[in-house]
Amino acid sequence: MAFTLSGDDACRITFPSPIPNPYWVAFSARAAKLIGLELSQNGLPSDPEWLQICAGNSLTSATHRFASPLSTVYSGHQFGVWAGQLGDGRAILLGELRGQEIQIKGAGKTPYSRMGDGRAVLRSSIREFLCSEAMHALGIPTTRALSVVGSEMPVRRETMETAAVCTRLAPSFIRIGHFEHFASLQDISRLRELADLLIRDHYPECQDHKHPYLGLFKHICTRNAKLVAHWQAVGFCHGVLNSDNISAIGLTIDYGPFGFLDQFQIDHICNHSDQGGRYAYHRQPQIMHWNMACLANAFLPLLELSHDAKDAQSLLREALEGFAIVYATTWQSLFRQKLGLSTSQDEDIHLIERLLQAMHDSKVDFTHFFRQLSYVQQTQDIQTISVRDNFIDRESIDKWLSDYMYRLQSENSIDEERQRAMNSINPKYILRNHQAQIAIERAQQHDFSEVQKLLELLSNPFDEHIEFEEYAIPPPANLEKVEVSCSS
Ligand code: AMP
Ligand code: MG
Repeated sequence: MAFTLSGDDACRITFPSPIPNPYWVAFSARAAKLIGLELSQNGLPSDPEWLQICAGNSLTSATHRFASPLSTVYSGHQFGVWAGQLGDGRAILLGELRGQEIQIKGAGKTPYSRMGDGRAVLRSSIREFLCSEAMHALGIPTTRALSVVGSEMPVRRETMETAAVCTRLAPSFIRIGHFEHFASLQDISRLRELADLLIRDHYPECQDHKHPYLGLFKHICTRNAKLVAHWQAVGFCHGVLNSDNISAIGLTIDYGPFGFLDQFQIDHICNHSDQGGRYAYHRQPQIMHWNMACLANAFLPLLELSHDAKDAQSLLREALEGFAIVYATTWQSLFRQKLGLSTSQDEDIHLIERLLQAMHDSKVDFTHFFRQLSYVQQTQDIQTISVRDNFIDRESIDKWLSDYMYRLQSENSIDEERQRAMNSINPKYILRNHQAQIAIERAQQHDFSEVQKLLELLSNPFDEHIEFEEYAIPPPANLEKVEVSCSS
């Protein structure tokens, strides 16, 4: 069992609360492979007890017994303000198989539920399921989703909805908030346990570091800096980048009111409860950095074990500065790849920024544009390039295209090779909110086929799938603004 902090003030045995008459809503055979589940022809576990396990109704299958399910305690900053103790309010860790922790979300109250009911609704569970699997297929580190199990059990949110349980997998569900919790209590021995556990299981390279805890902090910063650069490169907005929603191993975690950009708006806000736009698309890197500063504060007592207070502070401050470098390097590399550039030239950043400005000004569909750009040929007459039709200011996009073609020629780019490379980094399919919404509404009528279809499509987002062309085009005007709230 990976999460083994001592004492019941760190984690508590928590038994899931059953739901009546559970049924499969969605199941990921790809995620099931990670834990070695045996599946039948229909793609579901051969052992029917797994439905009961994923529902929170049982802890035993023919081959597995989860003897001590746990919920853990964490705290955190929400919307920039210290919020104290927060979770796990509705997530129960069943155990571990093949290095993957198995967590069921929405399986009832835990000792840390505060005022919540410990439940999750079908709508949000489907969104988490689809996006987890889609992000993984995009090559972005994320918690995985094994399944969604539904029930007719009523759950009250803004309206009455029904309950669902999402089973998630990850090598670790430890968050920045876990560190903040013990730091806020000045519980140095738990902080140490947590850091030692992470080093042992997830950052073994830190064992040889001169100062292992400083090494650990740097590595966590690096993983999260790279992560947020990947989000920017696919136009993913997380929506609630509170410190309790940031993974200590650099995974995308806690899918709530997230959204992929349709039209490119640099300041896009996907969470309609985020009125100030703290978590807008363009602020994500800076906010991730802010969260790493919260982690640095929590690490201070650990560094003070081997340094005086002033040195500890300056070492952490210096390490924190490394975030911006890793982020910028990764971002630049990813956007060069998105443009199909195989070499690096000083002017590239300006070229990328000019493009993003033009896309913002004309509200160009982010995913569709980059995919189409791969089909541009270096010798093509600019007037015949179809993507230019998406821009209002033709003069400036023509100038940009001309500079782009010149840039490609400067590295002797070969069109077909570049096209192949671009199509392996610029997805054709992303989880668009309006498509998720259609799948959810059908599922609420007990038709789960659209969820399954999206799962299959988004599991291979770089392939052409010409039979699914309609899923690749930007949403029609009446579906552009699907509003997603925090309630889940
Ligand atoms: P979130 O803002 O969704 O990341 O949630 C913050 C904390 O509140 C997490 O620990 C959640 O597990 C917990 N939480 C969210 N919704 C509920 C709920 N319905 N019942 C109990 N706890 C919840
Ligand atoms: Mg959360």
